Amino acid sequence: MARAAKVRPADDRKIPEGRRRIGTEMTGAGVRACPRCRSSNRGGARYCARCGLNLSEAVASDAAGRVRHPRPIAPPAGAQPANAAADLHFTWEAAWGGRPILGTEGLAIALHNGGYPLRDVILRLIGRDAKGAEIVRIDQTVEELPRGIATRIEIPSYELPDRSVAAIAVTLVSAEFGPES
Ligand SMILES: [Zn+2]
Repeated sequence: MARAAKVRPADDRKIPEGRRRIGTEMTGAGVRACPRCRSSNRGGARYCARCGLNLSEAVASDAAGRVRHPRPIAPPAGAQPANAAADLHFTWEAAWGGRPILGTEGLAIALHNGGYPLRDVILRLIGRDAKGAEIVRIDQTVEELPRGIATRIEIPSYELPDRSVAAIAVTLVSAEFGPES
């Protein structure tokens, strides 16, 4: 026997019965602004009703770059994950291409954002020598990290020490959500 399907947003399914709100009225305390698109959601909502952002992972405006995309784009083989970031990976090489050999070459870092588009991104780049000692620390601002497009940044040789950089770590300091491309 056919029955009208009960329409219920997907994000309600895992909320315990006792936490479900009755009706659709929203009170001040029960409303949560999405840090990505700013639209209002119920306090207990797991996903933003407008843009789909995972609100259970989002931490206020600090969420940009740290919330996993539901369909992340896989990074290229050999890419390393960035610290404190979701869906952000990088590869690096000497600025002219290939592995750095001398300590006098610039470095090129390719950032692979497989998640939500980001803008006004601040990254901390830390370079270590072969013995693991920190020899480079640069906070780098990147205007935009679109989704699915490699973004290349270069560290000129004059910002680098004479010693050869053997390892690079990239940490996300902060970011804003960027426009959909
Ligand atoms: Zn949203």
